Amino acid sequence: MQDNSARIDVLGIGFDSLTMQEAVDRALALLDEPGAHRVVTPNPEIVEVCRENLAARHAVKSAGLVLPDGIGVIKGAAMLGTPLKEKVPGIEFAAQLMGKMAESGRSLYLLGSKPGVARTAGNRLSAQYPGLRIAGTHDGYFQDDAPVVEEIRQSGADVVFVCLGAPKQELWMAKHGEATGAKLLCGLGGSLDVFAGTVERAPKFWREHNLEWFYRLCKEPRRAGRMMKLPLFLVHVQQEKRRKCREN
Ligand code: UDP
Repeated sequence: MQDNSARIDVLGIGFDSLTMQEAVDRALALLDEPGAHRVVTPNPEIVEVCRENLAARHAVKSAGLVLPDGIGVIKGAAMLGTPLKEKVPGIEFAAQLMGKMAESGRSLYLLGSKPGVARTAGNRLSAQYPGLRIAGTHDGYFQDDAPVVEEIRQSGADVVFVCLGAPKQELWMAKHGEATGAKLLCGLGGSLDVFAGTVERAPKFWREHNLEWFYRLCKEPRRAGRMMKLPLFLVHVQQEKRRKCREN
C-alpha cells in the first residue's frame, strides 16, 4: 500500500513533490512492484474538472504518481505556502521514461488520438529510442472498451500511454488499468499528436518562459473556452489561501 500522505494539496488534489528525475525513477520503481500503477499529470484545467467531477477526482487522487503538468499548479502550490519542487510536464516525463525503457528493452503500447496517429508516433519513437519495443497501437475513437483492453493484454506491454484527453483517460485507466495486464499506465493528453509530428510543441522560448499555454491558445483559439478554467483556478487558489489565513 503506498503512502500518499506526503502529497501537497492543491484544491483537493494531492501532488507528488518530485523533480523530473525523481518522478522518472519512481515510475521505473513502480514497474517492478506488483499490480497496475497509474501516472496522471493534472494541469489547472483538470484540477478544476476534479472539483466538480467526483469520479474524475477519485481517479486522479488514487493514481500512483500525481505530477504537476504545468506552471499553473506550481504557482498555485506556492501561493498556498506549500511549494512543489518543480513542474513535470507529462510529455517530457514520457520522453525521459522512454529513454530508460529503451535501455532495459521494455515495451510500450500507445493508445489514443485520431486513427493513424498512434502508429506514426510508434514508428517515430522506435527510431528515436533504439531498444524501445512498441507492443501495439490503437486510436482513441473506439466504442467498446473490452476489445481494446484485450488487445493491450495480448500485446504484453509493460507500459501504456493513454492519450484520450482529460478526464476520459484518467477514468479509463482507473477502470481498465488492472485488466490490461500492463504494469504502468500514463495519462498523457495530446502527447501522441506531438510524438507523431502532427502537432508541434511551443518553441523553447515560450516553454522556458512558462508561456506554452499562451502559444497553444494562439495556435488553437478553440481552446479559449477550456482555458477560462485557468483564471478560475487562480481565483479558487486565492479563496483557499484566504481561508487558510483565517484558520491560522
Ligand atoms: N482523444 C481521443 N479520444 C477521444 C477524445 C480525444 O483519442 O475520445 C485524443 C485527441 O485526439 C487528442 C487527445 O485525446 O489527441 C487530447 O488532446 P488535448 O490536446 O485535448 O489534451 P491535453 O494535452 O490538452 O490534455
